[in-house]
Amino acid sequence: MVIQPKVKDYICTTAHPLGCEKEVQRQIAYVQQSAKVSGPKRVLVLGCSTGYGLASRITTAFAYNAATLGIMFERPASGKRTATAGYYNNLAFEKAAANAGLYAKTLNMDAFSKEAKDTAIQMIQDDLGQIDMVIYSLAAPRRTTVDGITYSSVLKTTSTEFRNKNLRLRDNVIDEAVIPCATDEEIAHTIKVMGGEDWMDWMDALSNAGVLADNAITLAYSYIGPELTYPIYYQGSIGKAKQHLYETAKEINSKFEAKHIKALVSINKALVTQSSSAIPVVPLYITILYKIMKEQGVHEDCIMQMRRLFTEKWNGSTFETDASGFIRMDDYELNPAVQEQVTKHWNAISTKTIEQYADLEGYWEDFYHMFGFHIDGIDYEQDVTP
Ligand code: NAD
Repeated sequence: MVIQPKVKDYICTTAHPLGCEKEVQRQIAYVQQSAKVSGPKRVLVLGCSTGYGLASRITTAFAYNAATLGIMFERPASGKRTATAGYYNNLAFEKAAANAGLYAKTLNMDAFSKEAKDTAIQMIQDDLGQIDMVIYSLAAPRRTTVDGITYSSVLKTTSTEFRNKNLRLRDNVIDEAVIPCATDEEIAHTIKVMGGEDWMDWMDALSNAGVLADNAITLAYSYIGPELTYPIYYQGSIGKAKQHLYETAKEINSKFEAKHIKALVSINKALVTQSSSAIPVVPLYITILYKIMKEQGVHEDCIMQMRRLFTEKWNGSTFETDASGFIRMDDYELNPAVQEQVTKHWNAISTKTIEQYADLEGYWEDFYHMFGFHIDGIDYEQDVTP
């Protein structure tokens, strides 16, 4: 069938298998351009199929020569419905890894479940023995805990209602987003989903089963951003969940101190991913940020961020951190020379001046690329098997 994009607000409900494959190949080629680095050889990636998790898997596989076990939650094709982009990305990754002689297996399961943990542990015991690195890159709207209760996360403030400029993705109009304040229960549920509890559950399960190597490193990802987005992100309900993640990193470090396990949080750059597109206000900030960072020659996409993380911030045994213990991949984004310009553009921008102050085209190109569309060399009029 012919597969075209079907965009609904901030999501595309179709994905192109050949486009996704080409995009994964591009990311792999980017990593292969640089020299191989000595790093962990057996890596578990939770949330391995899109965004930062996929880029982390590609980098550890192709820069460290690592065997990777991935966990994702993606939908295969059925009838006339295409698979999700992450599903196609994963097929492409596994194919490229096999061609390069690298071990790569993936579980398409709910990472929050006990079943996923048990299955992953069995696979590690059978194939890899132990794991040297655990990358926690899940971004999920909900989580069902082992007792069967489902919690949903919200993207709200935690103090007062917040109003600010917003990019209406449906028609590229700048309107105003009115973001309400979360209730205490909503905040608690957001922490359940996006906080560190499940990260700790994974570390406990792996350690109890004896499949976590001594000196293993575990990484989770977070975002801080500029003051402009503090009400919706850093100080918002998602920010509260991230605070919990930071506390969990400390808990992992003290709990597994005897095994010399190190837990770190990497603060990454704001980028177009399926998750960030869903946050109000953030897409407009990203379009402005892209424009300025591209003009200043410091823009990076997911794979550039992750290659820099796993090669330049990695010293062979651990990662370079700031005084608070965070890995700062948002260093270029939060550079005052970038943020001063962002503020100027933010204040001046309106629907009429959007092209002048924001990289709308760059935003949408990244958006389509995530679903395998607008990729050079793909004929989108051709029949393809979903
Ligand atoms: P994403 O939506 O691209 O990827 C999410 C991944 O999680 C996918 O592989 C998906 O299959 C998997 N997943 C979701 N629910 C799952 C479940 N129940 N079981 C198994 N797998 C599941 O997200 P992303 O933007 O790459 O975010 C990854 C992490 O990076 C998050 O912690 C996010 O907060 C952080 N981060 C993102 C940005 C950004 O701008 N996008 C910036 C800084 C930090």
